[in-house]
Amino acid sequence: MNGQVVTRFAPSPTGFLHIGGARTALFNWLYARGRGGKFLLRIEDTDRERSTPEATQAILDGLDWLGLDHDGEAVSQAAGAVRHAEVAKTLLDKGQAYKCFSTQEEIQAFREKAREEKRSTLFQSPWRDADPADHPDASYVIRIKAPREGQTVIRDEVQGDVTIGNDQLDDMVLLRSDGSPVYMLAVVVDDHDMGVTHVIRGDDHLNNAARQMLIYEAMGWEVPVWAHIPLIHGPDGKKLSKRHGALGVDEYQRMGYPAAGMRNYLARLGWSHGDDEYFSDEQAKAWFDISGIGKSPARFDFKKLENLCGQHIAATPDAALLQELRAYLAATGQAPLDDATADLMLGAMYCLKDRAKTFPQLLEKAEFALARRPIAPDEKAAKALDSVSRGILSELTPQLQNASWTRDELEAVASRVAEAHGIGFGKLAAPLRAALAGRTVTPSVFDMMLVLGRDETVARLGEASA
Ligand code: GLU
Repeated sequence: MNGQVVTRFAPSPTGFLHIGGARTALFNWLYARGRGGKFLLRIEDTDRERSTPEATQAILDGLDWLGLDHDGEAVSQAAGAVRHAEVAKTLLDKGQAYKCFSTQEEIQAFREKAREEKRSTLFQSPWRDADPADHPDASYVIRIKAPREGQTVIRDEVQGDVTIGNDQLDDMVLLRSDGSPVYMLAVVVDDHDMGVTHVIRGDDHLNNAARQMLIYEAMGWEVPVWAHIPLIHGPDGKKLSKRHGALGVDEYQRMGYPAAGMRNYLARLGWSHGDDEYFSDEQAKAWFDISGIGKSPARFDFKKLENLCGQHIAATPDAALLQELRAYLAATGQAPLDDATADLMLGAMYCLKDRAKTFPQLLEKAEFALARRPIAPDEKAAKALDSVSRGILSELTPQLQNASWTRDELEAVASRVAEAHGIGFGKLAAPLRAALAGRTVTPSVFDMMLVLGRDETVARLGEASA
């Protein structure tokens, strides 16, 4: 195919943006962005009863958080109803569609008879070849004149050629008797009008593709490249359920996963590039291709997601991470960081981001920096601050007061004091953690001292050993 690649994401706004939809969006985004193409967004809101503005907003928010930006305005499918109907009329004029006056009762009777006679129950309208002069003055639907013989072949880039006997396809309705277009027609017209060249979507739409193909052929339009991707399964190989992680993207945001880690993980759900697990957006854009999409369903795995998220947090520059952390706090309705705390966090980021897999974990590691004196020790920390330890701390404190505030010097001072008491530094670490953070699991003691600075360090040690 020559020319610019155009992909689209076409969610139905009947619920949140779930993880499968997010992956579909990501694949289309990567494909377009890696080729200098366009990624369009179409809201398939023709089901007026089930589509809600809240769901549309949730989809937009989810895409925004994931960083999947689309080109141009989001298109509303419902707004195109007049154009969709126009195409049905064009097909009528071309003799590729016809007016069908059969009533529901007649269709029902046809089916029952076919069942009795053990024939296909697909409706065959008596109006297909009727002379317009014989048309009654009654309401009608417009049906496509589907070929009755031969086969329809869907050339699918993931599944290979999928052949469907035309005797399996009926003359589907294009326009209802109230003049409203059916969904299948709307999708084809929109994809054509939007210039979509590649459609990557869930393989639950493979059956629709055969029917959509009939419309493309009847209009003489070029069929886009289709890639129907297997759905995501749970770790046990069963259909993805809530328990497995079939949650809205917003829930992953609230759980504090970074968007970059999420993108990386979702890209790996059903697509691979050799053995690469961890990669950047730039790499994903350069590498992503339909040929790397697997034919069997991917399995959702929280461990892998966390692992990749941890690597992305560690690789994100400190200032950018602080921005994301602030966005996480806002999204979860937590108090924002004031400027002083934000500065402190920024200074501490280098030691916080190592081994934190989520923003809550990052915040937990930051507790020592966010805490205010007097530091209240938890139970374990209180035990670590026994009288012997407090004695050692009270000896260490004045020495720190006079030390130059570098890691080497701090280490040397602490080792000297430990040695003088015939203990390894390890023994001194627990009371130091307890004094500085009020807990026994913290970033390294020297990182905490460097982040807190001399005055705060000395003050905390002083209070703990008093
Ligand atoms: N609106 C459909 C869905 O949400 C997608 C249709 C398509 O991609 O062609 O599943």
